Amino acid sequence: MGRNIDNKCKQCRRAGEKLFLKGERCFTPKCAIIKRNYAPGFHGPKGHKRLSDYGQQLAEKQKAKKFYGLAEKQFRLTFDKAVKKVGDSGKNFLRALEMRLDNVVYRAGFATSRAAARQLVNHGHFSVNEVMTDIPSFMVKPGEVIKIKKTSEKNIYFRNSAEKLKKAERPSWLNFSADDLSVKILHEPQDTDLPLNLNIQVITEYYSK
Ligand code: SF4
Repeated sequence: MGRNIDNKCKQCRRAGEKLFLKGERCFTPKCAIIKRNYAPGFHGPKGHKRLSDYGQQLAEKQKAKKFYGLAEKQFRLTFDKAVKKVGDSGKNFLRALEMRLDNVVYRAGFATSRAAARQLVNHGHFSVNEVMTDIPSFMVKPGEVIKIKKTSEKNIYFRNSAEKLKKAERPSWLNFSADDLSVKILHEPQDTDLPLNLNIQVITEYYSK
């Protein structure tokens, strides 16, 4: 997958809100949205541009894509699969994005950003139901258990983050076990578990044209 090499904080400033792309820094006063909450550019703050309906839809779609750190092709593919399912397409789409293995690793607290979670998965540090899985787009299912691989437990990254991992906040659809540092998927994210900062209706309209 092509990597987005655009400056992460600029992506947030363009979106006008925190997208939590830089891990721990996002929770400190150093966050660029706290320091310079206006679109990046040579001329400084110029106020918000008025966008057409299409512009708003495009901006919202771009924001969601950056939030989940996905390229257009993968994002669109996930949407196309979601609309084929029974029920609300928008919610199905968000649910599918939440159930990706890289997102679950992030939500579970194994990594401080989705980009870091994707790298950990790519490097083969996790198993799903005891099977090593290194595909970030792998869709987890209720009942499955995500665990740090035995050989990776000694890795300096996991040793240093074990205490933080035990204290991490997690959504209610994930159950953490401190005994073996594993996470079980209890159920699919419910409506109240889906991110509130994304206007999914506008994104659905963009793709439904
Ligand atoms: Fe976005 Fe994090 Fe940078 Fe703040 S610190 S602007 S939330 S990437």
